Amino acid sequence: MKTSSPLTFMTTIFRGRRGKLAADLEGAGWDALVVSHLPNVLYLTGFSGSSGMVVTGSSGTTLFTDGRYAVQARELEGGCRVRIVRGALLDGVAAHLQAIGARRVAFEASHLTVSQNAALKKRTGSKAVRKWGATTGVVEKLRARKDAVEITKIRAAAAVACKALALVLPMVKPGVREVEVAAEIEYLMRRNGAAGPSFETIVASGPRTALPHARPTSRKLRRNELVVLDLGAILDHYCSDLTRTVYLGKPPRRLAEWHRAVGEAHQAAVAALRPGVTGAQVDLAARETLRKHRLDRLFVHSCGHGLGLEIHEEPRLARNIETPLEAGNVVTIEPGVYLEGTGGIRIEDDYLVTDRGSERLTRTCSDIFQH
Ligand code: ZN
Ligand code: ZN
Repeated sequence: MKTSSPLTFMTTIFRGRRGKLAADLEGAGWDALVVSHLPNVLYLTGFSGSSGMVVTGSSGTTLFTDGRYAVQARELEGGCRVRIVRGALLDGVAAHLQAIGARRVAFEASHLTVSQNAALKKRTGSKAVRKWGATTGVVEKLRARKDAVEITKIRAAAAVACKALALVLPMVKPGVREVEVAAEIEYLMRRNGAAGPSFETIVASGPRTALPHARPTSRKLRRNELVVLDLGAILDHYCSDLTRTVYLGKPPRRLAEWHRAVGEAHQAAVAALRPGVTGAQVDLAARETLRKHRLDRLFVHSCGHGLGLEIHEEPRLARNIETPLEAGNVVTIEPGVYLEGTGGIRIEDDYLVTDRGSERLTRTCSDIFQH
């Protein structure tokens, strides 16, 4: 089944992405790339179904999906060929690779399972494809640099997360359960246009704040305790990610100092954030600031991560990341300190790397601590 879509603004965007990818593939000596990671399929074609694979390269781009998505695929704005496959998508992909005479074919090593890989090779046959290549991050590298359409969508996702946080704060009070606050946050995000949370909302109170990835429990919030709220929305397939830490009551001096130190570390990382700087340098800026406060050993994770179609993507802001940042990268900055028995404090916002520095996308969220 063949479909073609009208040339819209979005079609030209998708074609532009595939054009860049085709140039990268050709430069690396590949005739085609088999794309099986769904966020990459979405990025290249606009297809958001749960069953899809793409073959893209010098002979164009074809999306493979099954009959459940026939209507959705017909309405696709991506401007690529669509094949509705009966049975396994890999059979359609293998037949297509034979038909286009692709000799050197790459696949996504991080996303194709060992058994899928074996099936693909077997069904395509060694006569057709001479060389298979395990690649990583080919499409992800392109995705790291957001275009204007994507930035608008991430901005909207950030605005919804900020709004939900502002609306939920009045209920963040002693006696309310962590799960109740988390449910309310997710409800508020949906009420304001989100398709859902971009990850499982974190609401952690008291000693549980020492767990950076705590799941909400039935524990009731109490006076004179910390509460960490880490939330994000998905809107139009794009994610946001935001953390605030509040103290229910008047914070003791030590925790007030911790909060100030984390805020300073956050600002130091933001000051370092610009094109040409590496993820390691941004991470170090936060770490060095916490070291001055003798808190660096309590900073147990990396400084931030890229976000877009996925909640964690390129570029990473962490030790050992030596790739320079580029304008168009969207990243979180989220230093935190955690001590078992005491608790944890994290402050997280989303930033767009611009030509000169960066711009905060979670811009309507103020930082509150005493609550
Ligand atoms: Zn977060
Ligand atoms: Zn994050």
